[in-house]
Amino acid sequence: MSAPLSGPANPLSFLTDQLNELRAAGSFFRLRELESACEPVSRADGREVINLASNNYLGLANHPRLKEAALDAIRKYGAGTGAVRTITGTMAIHMELERKIAAFKHTEACVVFQSGFTANAGTVSSILTPEDHIISDELNHASIIDGCRLSRAKIHVFRHRDPAHAAEILEGLSDQSGRKLLITDGVFSMDGDIGPLPGLVAAAERHGAVMMIDDAHSSGVLGRNGRGTVDHFGLHGRVQIQVGTLSKAIGVLGGYVCGSRDLIDYLYHRARPFLFSTSHPPAVTAACSAAFDLLVEEPERIAILWENTRYFKSALQSNGFDTGASETPITPIIVGEAAVAHKYSAALFEEGLWATGIGFPTVPKGRARIRAIVTAAHTRAHLDQAVEILTRVARRMGILGA
Ligand SMILES: *Cc1c(COP(=O)(O)O)cnc(C)c1O
Repeated sequence: MSAPLSGPANPLSFLTDQLNELRAAGSFFRLRELESACEPVSRADGREVINLASNNYLGLANHPRLKEAALDAIRKYGAGTGAVRTITGTMAIHMELERKIAAFKHTEACVVFQSGFTANAGTVSSILTPEDHIISDELNHASIIDGCRLSRAKIHVFRHRDPAHAAEILEGLSDQSGRKLLITDGVFSMDGDIGPLPGLVAAAERHGAVMMIDDAHSSGVLGRNGRGTVDHFGLHGRVQIQVGTLSKAIGVLGGYVCGSRDLIDYLYHRARPFLFSTSHPPAVTAACSAAFDLLVEEPERIAILWENTRYFKSALQSNGFDTGASETPITPIIVGEAAVAHKYSAALFEEGLWATGIGFPTVPKGRARIRAIVTAAHTRAHLDQAVEILTRVARRMGILGA
């Protein structure tokens, strides 16, 4: 690009410098363009590819029931809501969805946010103050970390999935005033491992801490009918704040917090994304609502998701791949260096398979990977073909021995 002939120097040129650093490190990316609905075989960047990149666990993103519900809602209520929830932005369907989710999760109440990100950040930041303490798993999601920072509470990080370390930190804080919040992801998004909820709940109870769980990757995946990790571990009534997302298995967009009536009423009054950002359009709310009906009426979709997960993982493992610590449909394929992961991902795409390459700093150095996410909508034939492509390209690149 040529610089303008005259005029002041570009005050944003420091961004160009930083982008050039990303380019030099091989971590600059371009956004891939999806040219079809999000389906097991999707069209992207001009190519038909088996899609193992989305979080569309149950294949609901393009489900006819959700689409019909969205279209009906648009006809009845229009395209937008006109304001934030506390003004004109609460329609009857918003309240109906919150009641439906609360009943589904067996909690008193629920509040829906615009995204899982704002649900986490808005909740943590509104319930804590600088006098308080957060005890947080080192691999918790960015939205939790941002919520912690916004709260200005003191942040104490415990080793990944280590309830004993969390308990030790709580013990060390026992003479401190201020409230304590113990927080973990239900399923970790990079490794697909499950948070050790029973041990954490016990530690929280022993030390009078509030227990909060982010079930973004567990909503619709773990527990009966996809009720999440609290249900999976049989811990109903012992986790005060349950966050879930409507953007992954539910197939649409949004986040929610489930808990006591007082928690939800407090968030209605104090959570900043709820108060200061416009509510979901009717189409989003109605489609989410239809998805919960499907979770209740057709739980077989979740059984298929888990069958596909077991089938895919065991095929990969018998071909010699390292699938890390995964216990869920999130399947990392560890290759080592970040540059290798990105090159492998690009080569897979050329061969008809879409799976994201992930490297440092998102995952530790030397643990770069392809992240493949199985869904209920994939057929055995899709999975067989995916394993064949993954294996063939890995052998060609020397990632797997020939
Ligand atoms: C994806 C994700 C979120 C954010 O959810 P969105 O609805 O996409 O904003 C929050 N927490 C975790 C652990 C996630 O993986």
